[in-house]
Amino acid sequence: MAIDGPAGAGKSSVARGLAARLGFHYLDTGAMYRALTWLALHEGVPLDDGPALEGLARAHPVTFGDAGWVAIAGEDVTTRIREPEIDAAVPVVARHPEVREVMRARQRELGRSGDSVIEGRDIGVVVVPDAEVKVWLVADPAVRARRRHLERDGLGIDELAEELRRRDERDAINTHRAVDAVEVDTTTLSLDEVIDRIAGLVEVAR
Ligand code: C5P
Repeated sequence: MAIDGPAGAGKSSVARGLAARLGFHYLDTGAMYRALTWLALHEGVPLDDGPALEGLARAHPVTFGDAGWVAIAGEDVTTRIREPEIDAAVPVVARHPEVREVMRARQRELGRSGDSVIEGRDIGVVVVPDAEVKVWLVADPAVRARRRHLERDGLGIDELAEELRRRDERDAINTHRAVDAVEVDTTTLSLDEVIDRIAGLVEVAR
């Protein structure tokens, strides 16, 4: 199943919790773009060079571990990919069509092994258009900033709200809401309530 939506709507917590509840695999496609961005910065590959980034992505497929770790080029980057420097740079990397081709192929490959919950921005429309259940997750911008504030040290709520707004704007071109996606607004719902609601959709679809 596919969970798409803007930054900070709760996709990761919901998708991870749902996968645990249903016994599905969990795939965080944002972590893949983040890992490639980390590697490009680490290797000094210019972020505006699509063909060079494509080569990097092909040479270094992102891997995930059972305990939730993310690795690329033999490095465990699980915590490093959550730094503000990566937040700011990742839409630049994710914008290159040739990078997206490589990433989408890898996402389909990783998603093929049994039932999975795949979260991202273009999953229900481009990556897995035949997903059984598609969810479009949204939340009020102030709530998104407050939640992000609880996850991250350092930045204030206003700065985070601005960062989320700017990232949505830059990601808009690659963010697609499927016409057959069910919108779930998480603004006033607890994590368990959101998971209950989506698990119900999966049950109905089976
Ligand atoms: O979901 P998360 O905030 O971790 O995603 C990080 C970035 O990866 C997004 O800001 C976007 O630039 C990119 N992304 C994407 N397509 C996806 C998932 C993420 O372009 N399916």
